[in-house]
Amino acid sequence: MKRDYYEVLGIDRSAPLDEIKKAYRRLAMQHHPDQNPGDKAAEEKFKEAAEAYGVLSDAEKRKAYDQFGHAGVGGAGGGQSFQFDPGQFTDFEDILGSFFGSGIFGGGQRRRSGRGEPGSDLQYTLRISFRDAVFGLENQQIEVPRLEGCDTCGGNGCAPGTSPQGCPQCRGTGQVAMRQGFFQMAMPCPRCEGRGNIIPSPCTTCRGQGRVQRRSTVTFRIPPGVDRGMRLRLVGQGEAGVGGGSRGDLYIICDVQEDPRYQRDGQDLHAKQEVPWPLLALGGRLKVETLYGDDHIKIEPGTPSDTVVKRPNAGVPRTRGGGRGDLYLHLRAAVPKTLSPEQESLARQMLDALQGDEDSPAAEAEEGLLAKVFGSNSKKKKKKN
Ligand SMILES: [Zn+2]
Ligand SMILES: [Zn+2]
Repeated sequence: MKRDYYEVLGIDRSAPLDEIKKAYRRLAMQHHPDQNPGDKAAEEKFKEAAEAYGVLSDAEKRKAYDQFGHAGVGGAGGGQSFQFDPGQFTDFEDILGSFFGSGIFGGGQRRRSGRGEPGSDLQYTLRISFRDAVFGLENQQIEVPRLEGCDTCGGNGCAPGTSPQGCPQCRGTGQVAMRQGFFQMAMPCPRCEGRGNIIPSPCTTCRGQGRVQRRSTVTFRIPPGVDRGMRLRLVGQGEAGVGGGSRGDLYIICDVQEDPRYQRDGQDLHAKQEVPWPLLALGGRLKVETLYGDDHIKIEPGTPSDTVVKRPNAGVPRTRGGGRGDLYLHLRAAVPKTLSPEQESLARQMLDALQGDEDSPAAEAEEGLLAKVFGSNSKKKKKKN
């Protein structure tokens, strides 16, 4: 467990910056490795204070920390970086985890390559089965309709043999001056819409847009353990940019189907487990089904029917950090709908033994119910005993 940064520095949550600095200086002097040679505990305290100071002294990081705690500033890594790495090919996150994207799809994190307009991000909702979500999917393919660079003109929008020309109205600057009273303001050029160049003869394939709508096949992998609402980011698989702008990203949103046996709670699973009632009374071993094959559980004699048995590591794989969640089996006494004559006789002997005196008021009251459960001839048999 990581300690709260304010607690580490021993300051109030509303402490101003100079108080944060003062608190850090005091702790740093106290626990500095030079002052405490060979003292591991002091070294840890020193590091802890440095980390807390690193976050709380930075207004933006402090705000993120106040709002989301350690998760907001990089979780276990601690106050290093809390931006996604756009260089990564796929980046896994859940919707709640993407605090720092502006807008739902993180478009604010767009890498601007300096030139042109970046392509749009796309999203695709992928419905997958419960088991595929648990075990993952390799080589998953989807068809995505998206804007791609035009092959005819190479994306510049010009008919073959021609090229873009500097806009005569703004002389290639993309801006024109507008006079308003005493003030002069810069406005995007109306002729070239701020691009600075114009297309004298547009490419007929893309009508000068530089991009065409096309269906493309995208191949990707779903890692094991995804949950409903999680999204997979495929960097550069969104729409093509314009005029040298970077490509957008494609977000795959996982819509995981329900399973009849398992209810999911994060990476843990819950399932009902029927147990023959004599086994609950007598105790013994029971074969149970898990996602990873058959398992056996031990039933203690006299186990109540609402007991929960935990099977460690039989849950869903964690998408980060490795390992799996646990499986919780909620035991229920299995009562057979029909009984063979032999089973009925045994059950009755058992019941009689448990009930003791048949003529007690409790036994009388139960007789009507028994007749319903065991059929009309049960009364006759009962009388014979
Ligand atoms: Zn074209
Ligand atoms: Zn212009």
